[in-house]
Amino acid sequence: MALLLLGPAVRASVWSEVCAEAGEVFYHETAPAEEVTHLACWVPPEDLSVYPNLRVVICVGAGVDQMPLMPEGVSLVRTHAASVDEMVRDWVVMATLMLHRDMPGYLAQAREGVWQAGTIPRSRGAKVGIMGMGRIGSLAAETLGGMGFDVLGWSRSGRGPEGVRMFDAGGMERFLSEAETLICLLPLTPATQGLMDDAFLAKLPKGARLVQAGRGAQLSLDALRRALDSGQLSSAMLDVTEPEPLPADHWAWSHNRVIVTPHVAGQTDAREGIEHALSVIRADRAGQALPGLVDQGRGY
Ligand code: NAP
Repeated sequence: MALLLLGPAVRASVWSEVCAEAGEVFYHETAPAEEVTHLACWVPPEDLSVYPNLRVVICVGAGVDQMPLMPEGVSLVRTHAASVDEMVRDWVVMATLMLHRDMPGYLAQAREGVWQAGTIPRSRGAKVGIMGMGRIGSLAAETLGGMGFDVLGWSRSGRGPEGVRMFDAGGMERFLSEAETLICLLPLTPATQGLMDDAFLAKLPKGARLVQAGRGAQLSLDALRRALDSGQLSSAMLDVTEPEPLPADHWAWSHNRVIVTPHVAGQTDAREGIEHALSVIRADRAGQALPGLVDQGRGY
Protein backbone atom coordinates (compact mmCIF):
# COMPACT_ATOMS: atom_id res chain seq x y z
CA MET A 1 0.00 0.00 0.00
CA ALA A 2 1.29 3.48 -0.79
CA LEU A 3 -0.10 6.94 -0.12
CA LEU A 4 0.27 9.62 -2.78
CA LEU A 5 -0.32 13.26 -1.83
CA LEU A 6 -1.13 15.88 -4.44
CA GLY A 7 -0.67 19.14 -2.57
CA PRO A 8 1.75 21.82 -1.41
CA ALA A 9 5.34 21.00 -0.45
CA VAL A 10 4.94 22.39 3.10
CA ARG A 11 2.22 19.81 3.76
CA ALA A 12 4.24 17.07 2.04
CA SER A 13 7.27 17.57 4.28
CA VAL A 14 5.16 16.97 7.43
CA TRP A 15 3.34 14.01 5.83
CA SER A 16 6.62 12.45 4.68
CA GLU A 17 8.11 12.69 8.16
CA VAL A 18 5.04 11.19 9.88
CA CYS A 19 4.77 8.37 7.30
CA ALA A 20 8.45 7.52 7.73
CA GLU A 21 7.92 7.23 11.51
CA ALA A 22 4.81 5.09 10.93
CA GLY A 23 6.54 2.86 8.35
CA GLU A 24 4.07 3.77 5.57
CA VAL A 25 5.14 4.29 1.96
CA PHE A 26 4.58 7.93 0.97
CA TYR A 27 4.93 9.80 -2.32
CA HIS A 28 4.43 13.46 -3.15
CA GLU A 29 3.09 14.52 -6.57
CA THR A 30 4.36 11.47 -8.50
CA ALA A 31 4.56 7.77 -7.75
CA PRO A 32 4.79 4.45 -9.58
CA ALA A 33 1.11 4.20 -10.59
CA GLU A 34 0.61 0.51 -9.60
CA GLU A 35 1.81 1.19 -6.06
CA VAL A 36 -0.78 3.89 -5.29
CA THR A 37 -3.64 2.55 -3.17
CA HIS A 38 -4.55 5.77 -1.31
CA LEU A 39 -4.62 9.17 -3.00
CA ALA A 40 -4.90 12.36 -0.90
CA CYS A 41 -5.83 15.58 -2.72
CA TRP A 42 -8.31 18.47 -2.92
CA VAL A 43 -9.22 17.71 -6.54
CA PRO A 44 -8.15 14.38 -8.11
CA PRO A 45 -6.71 14.03 -11.61
CA GLU A 46 -9.41 13.58 -14.26
CA ASP A 47 -8.46 9.99 -15.10
CA LEU A 48 -8.18 7.89 -11.94
CA SER A 49 -7.78 4.69 -13.97
CA VAL A 50 -4.06 5.48 -14.22
CA TYR A 51 -3.87 4.08 -10.67
CA PRO A 52 -5.05 0.48 -11.22
CA ASN A 53 -4.85 -0.46 -7.51
CA LEU A 54 -6.49 2.69 -6.10
CA ARG A 55 -8.77 1.92 -3.14
CA VAL A 56 -9.50 5.25 -1.45
CA VAL A 57 -9.41 8.95 -2.38
CA ILE A 58 -8.86 11.08 0.72
CA CYS A 59 -10.17 14.63 0.43
CA VAL A 60 -7.79 16.84 2.43
CA GLY A 61 -10.69 19.15 3.39
CA ALA A 62 -14.22 18.74 4.75
CA GLY A 63 -16.16 19.93 1.68
CA VAL A 64 -16.42 17.36 -1.12
CA ASP A 65 -18.51 19.40 -3.58
CA GLN A 66 -15.44 19.74 -5.85
CA MET A 67 -14.98 15.95 -5.98
CA PRO A 68 -16.28 13.93 -8.95
CA LEU A 69 -18.13 10.66 -8.35
CA MET A 70 -15.57 7.94 -7.74
CA PRO A 71 -15.12 4.98 -10.11
CA GLU A 72 -16.51 1.59 -9.06
CA GLY A 73 -14.53 0.13 -6.15
CA VAL A 74 -12.96 3.43 -5.04
CA SER A 75 -14.14 4.96 -1.74
CA LEU A 76 -14.13 8.68 -0.95
CA VAL A 77 -13.39 9.99 2.54
CA ARG A 78 -13.15 13.53 3.82
CA THR A 79 -10.92 14.93 6.52
CA HIS A 80 -12.90 16.21 9.46
CA ALA A 81 -10.25 18.17 11.31
CA ALA A 82 -10.78 20.13 14.52
CA SER A 83 -8.20 22.61 13.20
CA VAL A 84 -10.44 23.60 10.27
CA ASP A 85 -13.58 23.76 12.40
CA GLU A 86 -11.90 26.08 14.90
CA MET A 87 -10.28 28.28 12.24
CA VAL A 88 -13.56 28.74 10.37
CA ARG A 89 -15.35 29.42 13.68
CA ASP A 90 -12.75 32.12 14.39
CA TRP A 91 -13.21 33.71 10.95
CA VAL A 92 -17.01 33.66 11.30
CA VAL A 93 -16.90 35.24 14.76
CA MET A 94 -14.44 37.88 13.49
CA ALA A 95 -16.64 38.64 10.46
CA THR A 96 -19.79 38.83 12.57
CA LEU A 97 -18.14 41.30 14.94
CA MET A 98 -16.66 43.32 12.08
CA LEU A 99 -20.06 43.77 10.47
CA HIS A 100 -21.88 44.23 13.79
CA ARG A 101 -19.44 47.04 14.72
CA ASP A 102 -19.58 48.50 11.16
CA MET A 103 -15.93 47.97 10.25
CA PRO A 104 -16.71 48.41 6.51
CA GLY A 105 -17.93 51.94 7.38
CA TYR A 106 -14.96 52.75 9.61
CA LEU A 107 -12.45 51.38 7.09
CA ALA A 108 -14.02 53.58 4.39
CA GLN A 109 -13.82 56.59 6.75
CA ALA A 110 -10.20 55.75 7.59
CA ARG A 111 -9.23 55.80 3.90
CA GLU A 112 -10.56 59.39 3.79
CA GLY A 113 -8.97 60.37 7.14
CA VAL A 114 -12.40 60.94 8.68
CA TRP A 115 -12.81 60.68 12.49
CA GLN A 116 -16.50 60.26 13.12
CA ALA A 117 -18.06 58.00 15.72
CA GLY A 118 -21.37 56.26 15.12
CA THR A 119 -23.63 54.65 17.69
CA ILE A 120 -22.01 51.64 19.34
CA PRO A 121 -24.31 48.60 19.22
CA ARG A 122 -24.40 45.99 21.97
CA SER A 123 -23.86 42.34 21.06
CA ARG A 124 -26.18 41.24 23.88
CA GLY A 125 -29.51 40.35 22.35
CA ALA A 126 -28.48 41.12 18.74
CA LYS A 127 -29.89 38.39 16.50
CA VAL A 128 -27.54 36.18 14.52
CA GLY A 129 -28.93 33.43 12.29
CA ILE A 130 -26.62 30.55 11.39
CA MET A 131 -27.55 28.46 8.33
CA GLY A 132 -25.90 25.05 8.65
CA MET A 133 -25.71 23.80 12.20
CA GLY A 134 -23.14 21.06 11.70
CA ARG A 135 -19.68 20.87 13.21
CA ILE A 136 -18.67 24.44 12.40
CA GLY A 137 -22.08 26.08 12.82
CA SER A 138 -22.43 24.55 16.28
CA LEU A 139 -19.00 25.84 17.34
CA ALA A 140 -19.82 29.33 16.05
CA ALA A 141 -23.17 29.24 17.86
CA GLU A 142 -21.48 28.35 21.13
CA THR A 143 -18.97 31.22 20.90
CA LEU A 144 -21.41 33.87 19.66
CA GLY A 145 -24.03 32.74 22.20
CA GLY A 146 -21.41 32.97 24.94
CA MET A 147 -20.77 36.59 23.91
CA GLY A 148 -24.44 37.44 24.39
CA PHE A 149 -25.71 37.28 20.80
CA ASP A 150 -29.19 35.80 20.41
CA VAL A 151 -28.34 32.87 18.12
CA LEU A 152 -30.92 31.21 15.84
CA GLY A 153 -30.09 28.17 13.78
CA TRP A 154 -31.34 26.61 10.55
CA SER A 155 -30.69 23.09 9.28
CA ARG A 156 -32.55 20.66 7.01
CA SER A 157 -33.65 18.50 9.91
CA GLY A 158 -33.96 21.28 12.48
CA ARG A 159 -31.21 19.52 14.47
CA GLY A 160 -28.82 21.79 16.30
CA PRO A 161 -27.02 22.26 19.60
CA GLU A 162 -28.95 22.55 22.82
CA GLY A 163 -29.97 26.08 23.78
CA VAL A 164 -30.15 27.33 20.17
CA ARG A 165 -33.58 28.21 18.78
CA MET A 166 -33.67 25.95 15.71
CA PHE A 167 -35.69 26.12 12.49
CA ASP A 168 -36.05 23.27 9.99
CA ALA A 169 -36.55 23.16 6.22
CA GLY A 170 -40.14 24.44 6.53
CA GLY A 171 -39.13 27.25 8.89
CA MET A 172 -36.77 29.04 6.50
CA GLU A 173 -38.91 32.18 6.07
CA ARG A 174 -39.41 32.70 9.80
CA PHE A 175 -35.71 32.09 10.40
CA LEU A 176 -34.67 34.61 7.75
CA SER A 177 -37.12 37.25 8.98
CA GLU A 178 -35.26 37.36 12.31
CA ALA A 179 -31.65 37.06 11.09
CA GLU A 180 -30.18 40.55 11.57
CA THR A 181 -26.82 39.01 10.74
CA LEU A 182 -27.01 35.91 8.54
CA ILE A 183 -24.09 33.47 8.59
CA CYS A 184 -23.92 30.81 5.87
CA LEU A 185 -22.09 27.61 6.80
CA LEU A 186 -23.87 25.24 4.45
CA PRO A 187 -22.28 22.58 2.26
CA LEU A 188 -22.63 23.08 -1.49
CA THR A 189 -25.20 20.60 -2.80
CA PRO A 190 -27.81 20.76 -5.58
CA ALA A 191 -30.22 22.05 -2.89
CA THR A 192 -27.97 24.90 -1.74
CA GLN A 193 -26.54 25.93 -5.14
CA GLY A 194 -27.83 29.43 -5.95
CA LEU A 195 -29.83 29.50 -2.69
CA MET A 196 -29.08 33.12 -1.86
CA ASP A 197 -30.74 35.04 -4.70
CA ASP A 198 -32.87 38.23 -4.80
CA ALA A 199 -35.99 36.58 -3.35
CA PHE A 200 -33.99 34.98 -0.54
CA LEU A 201 -32.17 38.17 0.46
CA ALA A 202 -35.49 40.07 0.41
CA LYS A 203 -36.71 37.87 3.29
CA LEU A 204 -34.04 39.18 5.67
CA PRO A 205 -34.80 42.18 7.89
CA LYS A 206 -34.07 45.52 6.19
CA GLY A 207 -30.39 46.45 6.65
CA ALA A 208 -29.28 42.89 7.51
CA ARG A 209 -25.63 41.82 7.31
CA LEU A 210 -24.34 38.73 5.50
CA VAL A 211 -21.38 36.54 6.47
CA GLN A 212 -20.59 33.96 3.77
CA ALA A 213 -18.19 31.14 4.70
CA GLY A 214 -19.96 28.22 2.97
CA ARG A 215 -19.28 27.93 -0.77
CA GLY A 216 -19.29 30.67 -3.40
CA ALA A 217 -21.92 29.11 -5.67
CA GLN A 218 -24.56 29.45 -2.93
CA LEU A 219 -24.69 33.26 -3.31
CA SER A 220 -25.53 35.31 -6.40
CA LEU A 221 -23.10 38.24 -6.29
CA ASP A 222 -25.42 40.17 -8.63
CA ALA A 223 -28.26 39.73 -6.13
CA LEU A 224 -25.93 40.80 -3.32
CA ARG A 225 -25.06 43.99 -5.18
CA ARG A 226 -28.73 44.81 -5.78
CA ALA A 227 -29.53 44.17 -2.10
CA LEU A 228 -26.66 46.45 -0.98
CA ASP A 229 -27.65 49.18 -3.44
CA SER A 230 -31.28 49.15 -2.27
CA GLY A 231 -30.31 49.13 1.43
CA GLN A 232 -31.93 45.72 1.93
CA LEU A 233 -28.49 44.57 3.11
CA SER A 234 -26.13 46.94 4.91
CA SER A 235 -22.87 44.99 4.57
CA ALA A 236 -21.31 41.64 3.74
CA MET A 237 -18.12 39.74 4.41
CA LEU A 238 -17.28 36.96 1.98
CA ASP A 239 -14.60 34.28 2.25
CA VAL A 240 -15.93 32.29 -0.69
CA THR A 241 -17.13 33.57 -4.05
CA GLU A 242 -18.19 32.32 -7.46
CA PRO A 243 -15.83 32.37 -9.29
CA GLU A 244 -12.65 31.86 -7.28
CA PRO A 245 -10.33 33.64 -7.54
CA LEU A 246 -12.59 36.67 -7.75
CA PRO A 247 -11.38 38.67 -10.82
CA ALA A 248 -9.23 41.69 -9.90
CA ASP A 249 -11.73 44.10 -11.48
CA HIS A 250 -14.80 42.64 -9.75
CA TRP A 251 -17.06 45.26 -8.12
CA ALA A 252 -17.03 43.45 -4.74
CA TRP A 253 -13.33 44.22 -4.14
CA SER A 254 -13.90 47.97 -4.11
CA HIS A 255 -17.43 48.17 -2.67
CA ASN A 256 -17.38 50.17 0.59
CA ARG A 257 -19.87 47.82 2.26
CA VAL A 258 -18.15 44.54 1.33
CA ILE A 259 -15.02 42.84 2.66
CA VAL A 260 -13.62 39.89 0.70
CA THR A 261 -10.99 37.41 1.89
CA PRO A 262 -9.51 34.81 -0.52
CA HIS A 263 -10.98 31.55 0.88
CA VAL A 264 -8.78 31.62 3.96
CA ALA A 265 -11.27 30.92 6.76
CA GLY A 266 -9.85 27.48 7.46
CA GLN A 267 -7.27 24.97 6.38
CA THR A 268 -6.53 21.45 7.64
CA ASP A 269 -3.47 21.42 9.90
CA ALA A 270 -0.84 19.24 8.13
CA ARG A 271 -0.26 16.94 11.11
CA GLU A 272 -3.96 16.45 11.73
CA GLY A 273 -4.43 15.70 8.01
CA ILE A 274 -1.83 12.93 7.89
CA GLU A 275 -3.08 11.44 11.14
CA HIS A 276 -6.51 11.16 9.54
CA ALA A 277 -5.01 9.70 6.33
CA LEU A 278 -3.10 7.08 8.36
CA SER A 279 -6.25 6.17 10.30
CA VAL A 280 -7.98 5.59 6.94
CA ILE A 281 -5.14 3.36 5.69
CA ARG A 282 -5.12 1.34 8.92
CA ALA A 283 -8.91 0.92 8.92
CA ASP A 284 -8.79 -0.13 5.26
CA ARG A 285 -6.06 -2.68 5.97
CA ALA A 286 -8.10 -4.10 8.88
CA GLY A 287 -11.32 -4.18 6.86
CA GLN A 288 -12.99 -1.69 9.23
CA ALA A 289 -15.27 1.27 8.48
CA LEU A 290 -13.28 4.15 6.96
CA PRO A 291 -13.25 7.34 9.07
CA GLY A 292 -14.94 10.19 7.20
CA LEU A 293 -16.49 7.93 4.53
CA VAL A 294 -18.64 9.97 2.12
CA ASP A 295 -21.97 8.62 0.92
CA GLN A 296 -21.40 8.28 -2.84
CA GLY A 297 -25.09 8.99 -3.38
CA ARG A 298 -24.05 12.34 -1.80
CA GLY A 299 -26.93 12.43 0.64
CA TYR A 300 -24.29 14.26 2.78
P1 NAP B 1 -21.53 19.51 8.51
O1 NAP B 1 -21.07 19.14 9.86
O2 NAP B 1 -21.70 18.45 7.46
O3 NAP B 1 -22.95 20.27 8.68
C1 NAP B 1 -23.76 20.66 7.59
C2 NAP B 1 -24.97 21.40 8.10
O4 NAP B 1 -25.68 21.93 6.97
C3 NAP B 1 -25.96 20.55 8.88
O5 NAP B 1 -26.55 21.31 9.90
C4 NAP B 1 -27.00 20.20 7.80
O6 NAP B 1 -28.29 19.97 8.33
C5 NAP B 1 -27.05 21.51 7.06
N1 NAP B 1 -27.68 21.41 5.74
C6 NAP B 1 -28.71 22.17 5.32
N2 NAP B 1 -29.06 21.88 4.07
C7 NAP B 1 -28.26 20.90 3.68
C8 NAP B 1 -28.14 20.18 2.47
N3 NAP B 1 -28.94 20.42 1.42
N4 NAP B 1 -27.22 19.22 2.40
C9 NAP B 1 -26.43 18.95 3.46
N5 NAP B 1 -26.48 19.62 4.65
C10 NAP B 1 -27.38 20.60 4.75
O7 NAP B 1 -20.61 20.63 7.83
P2 NAP B 1 -19.43 21.48 8.52
O8 NAP B 1 -18.24 20.63 8.75
O9 NAP B 1 -20.02 22.30 9.63
O10 NAP B 1 -19.07 22.46 7.28
C11 NAP B 1 -20.06 23.27 6.69
C12 NAP B 1 -19.54 23.90 5.42
O11 NAP B 1 -18.62 24.95 5.73
C13 NAP B 1 -18.72 23.00 4.47
O12 NAP B 1 -19.52 22.11 3.71
C14 NAP B 1 -18.08 24.05 3.59
O13 NAP B 1 -18.99 24.45 2.58
C15 NAP B 1 -17.86 25.22 4.57
N6 NAP B 1 -16.43 25.35 4.90
C16 NAP B 1 -15.80 26.48 4.51
C17 NAP B 1 -14.45 26.66 4.79
C18 NAP B 1 -13.75 27.92 4.39
O14 NAP B 1 -12.51 27.98 4.45
N7 NAP B 1 -14.47 28.95 4.02
C19 NAP B 1 -13.73 25.65 5.45
C20 NAP B 1 -14.43 24.51 5.85
C21 NAP B 1 -15.77 24.36 5.57
P3 NAP B 1 -28.81 18.50 8.71
O15 NAP B 1 -27.88 18.00 9.78
O16 NAP B 1 -30.18 18.70 9.19
O17 NAP B 1 -28.69 17.70 7.44
